[in-house]
Amino acid sequence: MLMAFSISAMAQATLPTPANIVVDEWNDWDGGFSQIGFRFVEDWDGAPVANDYSIEYEFIGGEWTKLEPTKLFYRVYIDNDQLFVFTPEEFPRDFTESVTEIPYRYDGFEFGPFEVHFPNHSNVTEGMDRFFNWRIGMQAVYRDGDQMTCSDIVYMEIFPQLKPAAQATPTSFLADWSCDAPNTQIINNFIGNGCGYFLYVVNKETQEIVLEQNVAPANYAEDEWGNEYPLPGATYLVEGLTPGTTYQYYVVVKQNTGVSYQSVVQEVTLPQEGHGYDLGDVNHDHSVNIADVTVLIDYLLSGTGDICTICADVNQAGGINIADVTELIDLLLGSN
Ligand SMILES: [Zn+2]
Repeated sequence: MLMAFSISAMAQATLPTPANIVVDEWNDWDGGFSQIGFRFVEDWDGAPVANDYSIEYEFIGGEWTKLEPTKLFYRVYIDNDQLFVFTPEEFPRDFTESVTEIPYRYDGFEFGPFEVHFPNHSNVTEGMDRFFNWRIGMQAVYRDGDQMTCSDIVYMEIFPQLKPAAQATPTSFLADWSCDAPNTQIINNFIGNGCGYFLYVVNKETQEIVLEQNVAPANYAEDEWGNEYPLPGATYLVEGLTPGTTYQYYVVVKQNTGVSYQSVVQEVTLPQEGHGYDLGDVNHDHSVNIADVTVLIDYLLSGTGDICTICADVNQAGGINIADVTELIDLLLGSN
């Protein structure tokens, strides 16, 4: 058994690893279908190549590894490294059984070999199903007998991920769906009058919408011609809320095609009023800083110490544990 494994491992080391797939674009057409456009890395003769390929080598006549096209496949991933399954129900024109690996230059999906076509993927207002929440990824797979090598998974963010609430006070919190992925500009192409990024805040108990706010993108990027374009994503301080109340909130991207994307729903419980200290001010010195981290870690290690258990529940999950330390450090670093 051990011998067989060793031989297999040695043989695998000689199998070339395919170059990372280049994910070019995401298009959404009026809610009817959408597609992800991507490229395998190929040399100038159109042959797929391994990860030792570079254009520079082509200029200087260097050696690189060409791949055997019939041994090459791709996979699609959604959200958190979840392998996408193409089912005959969703793709009746392409498959008669469920598959996760599509052959290189597969001539299906109606729109060409290098576009994966998702019918009716969109989460429109009526609540159609969607295949992913915020990003989609591609991976090249190379198979020879029972040996296999894989490229990295290359993701394209389609929708900014709504992060957990930060800076919760008795009456406010910071909603954050900032995003710095330049390839998300595609969605902005669809945004016109009456469209944009809408933040919704809902009272969890009553399900009353307490805020519906069109929030402009917070960040801009430059394309290769020096033109600025907005990146989808923003931060927004929600104020005037009721202390001790649990709120749900989410973001909806409304496009001028009539299609909208809704983010995951986040939840935050605001601290009671009159406490007078900020979340994370574990030692109640009216400042949230590294000293609070030290006090909190000491408390978790020893089980004793003078801390405020309200302010120490930094992630508002109820109870105090190592996750609150992480949240507090993130808070100090300004990363959420
Ligand atoms: Zn406190």
